This record gives sequence, structure tokens and C-alpha cells, in this order.
Amino acid sequence: EALGPTVTVGEILVEIMATTVGAGFREPQALTGPYPSGAPAIFIDQVARMGGAAGIVASVGNDDFGRLNVDRLRQDGVDVSAIAVSEDWPTGSAFVRYRPDGARDFVFNIARSAAGQVGLTPAAKDLIGRAGHVHVMGTALSIPGAREVILYAIETVRARGGSISFDPNLRKELLTDDGALDSFNQVLGAADLLLPSGEELFTAAGLNDEAEAVASLLESGIGEIVLKRGEQGASFFGRDRQRIDCVAFAVTEVDPTGAGDCFGAAYLTCRRKGMTPDAALLHANAAGARNVTRLGPMEGVSTLAELAVFIAETRRR
Ligand code: ATP
Ligand code: MG
Repeated sequence: EALGPTVTVGEILVEIMATTVGAGFREPQALTGPYPSGAPAIFIDQVARMGGAAGIVASVGNDDFGRLNVDRLRQDGVDVSAIAVSEDWPTGSAFVRYRPDGARDFVFNIARSAAGQVGLTPAAKDLIGRAGHVHVMGTALSIPGAREVILYAIETVRARGGSISFDPNLRKELLTDDGALDSFNQVLGAADLLLPSGEELFTAAGLNDEAEAVASLLESGIGEIVLKRGEQGASFFGRDRQRIDCVAFAVTEVDPTGAGDCFGAAYLTCRRKGMTPDAALLHANAAGARNVTRLGPMEGVSTLAELAVFIAETRRR
């Protein structure tokens, strides 16, 4: 951590949720929000809440949706100096409604919002020039301007002796773009820590067996893989075939959005603070579980003290 803050790049959004379960938005209905959101934003807010030095390169509109997000990030301790405010584009948004089976319907406005305007500004270069770690959110690789910033950040932070983590949560539909696929592979080749969930492990490795996919990625030079398994908990895989499994905490899921982002942020922040993989994995499981108990993707972020209480008091599955 002494080298400099953890920096991420990508979309800041508001999330607006249906208050009822059902299929999509084709009739008038009750909604709740706006809530601060965007995978990179949730991640970096969780880093800062745990006391990690944190900054984000992003873009919002000159509107209340933007102010809602920037105010929250600033209040939680994130360096917001590299969040550009666009006069021409509104803040990005995601409308979401849950179906009875747990699947989600979305209406996104990202590429043609301020979030699509992320770029290598002087403020972005300044923040990246001070960074000790870059965390790449796969979602951000669908934004061409963000890709440029991410590749610049990887090179710059690597040259400073810093490290790189990657959450390959890029939806398959967005991987059809050549630029997204190329940058996905470049980031994968540079990552020290990989944080996939479910199918993402197979997509990253190009193999459909868990053990083979893990072995192949470790062989290619990734130092640590932490696999997120939702309500089944998570597993750590390190060099020399080291493996640690952590069962999930028993909680009532209210809103699963953001669990993976909080999990990754907690794991990384614990590791950057010098904890063992074992301790980091436990804290990450707690951060993910705690997040799903709150409505709103960023409402369930945790401090280290809150995680300690949660770990002490919550039953495991
Ligand atoms: P996201 O929906 O944010 O993309 P993800 O798919 O990346 O999430 P998940 O595996 O869903 O990640 O959740 C991350 C971690 O959070 C899990 O590994 C687990 O530790 C914790 N978690 C998620 N859901 C639950 C749950 N229902 N009960 C307990 N823990 C959970
Ligand atoms: Mg999930």
C-alpha cells in the first residue's frame, strides 16, 4: 500500500430498481432509486470504506445523478479528482427488475452517457502516476475510452513496481467487439490476481473444467485466483497448487447486485494491507454476504470494524 492508492477505471451509474418482481418494464410500475452504482464505483467505494487508499477514473454528467455518486464516493474517502464532469452527456443509468427465478431484466444507458466519455485526461494521468495498484473491471472494457486509460494505467503502474487485479465480468454480448476482446486478453496477460465468478473462469481460460482452467491460468503467470461462488462461498488458488475453500455466511439475500464487487475490493484491500490469503478470503466472503442483505448495490459496503462484527456474529452455511 505504501507505493500508492488502488485505482480503478470505468462506469459510474445510477441504479433504479423495480419494487416488484416480474418481467421487465413494459408497463408503468413502482420504482425505487436512484442509488449510486457501476461495478468500478462499487468496488472502489468498498476499498475506501475499509481504509484503503483509493481513486477512480470516470465520467459523470453535470446533473443530480452524477452529484449523488460523486458525493457518496468523496464522503467514503475515494479520491474523486479524476472523475470528469461532462456538460454534454447525462450520467449513465441502469434500470433493473428481478424475475421470479432470480434472473434480471435491465435497461442500460452506458455507452451513450457520460460513462462512455471516460478518457485519459490530465487528472487521470496524475492519479495513475501516483497509483500503486490497478484494478480492472471487465465491464469497463466495453467503453473504448476506458480501455485506453486501463492499458495506460497497467503500463504505468507496472513500471512503478505496482500490481494488477482483474475481475473478468465482461458480459459475453459485449465481447463481440474486437477492441474489447483484445484488451480483455491484454489485461488477463498482465494480471497478478484474477477474481472470476462462475462461467467467467472458463471464458478466461478457454477451458470448461474448473481444475484445468485454474491450472492453465496459474501456469500462464497469474499469481492468485479467487473464484466467487455466490451462496456457495469462494475458493482461493495459489502457486504450488495451494487451495483454500471458504463456505458462505448464512444471510437472507435482499439484493445480490454488487456482491462480487465488494468481495473483490475486500480481498484486494486485505492483501494490500498484508493479510494472508486465508484471512483475506474470510473478509471478502463477509463483505459479499453483507452486501446482499441491503437494497441498493453500494448500500451494503463495509468497514473493517463492521466486517469483524459480522464475522464474529454470523453463522456459516
Ligand atoms: P455480482 O452480482 O456483483 O456480479 P458476482 O457474480 O461477481 O456478483 P457472487 O459469487 O455472486 O459474485 O458473490 C460474491 C461473493 O459474495 C460470493 O463468493 C460470496 O462470498 C458472497 N455472496 C454472494 N451471494 C451470497 C449469498 N446469497 N449468501 C452468502 N454470501 C453470498
Ligand atoms: Mg452473482
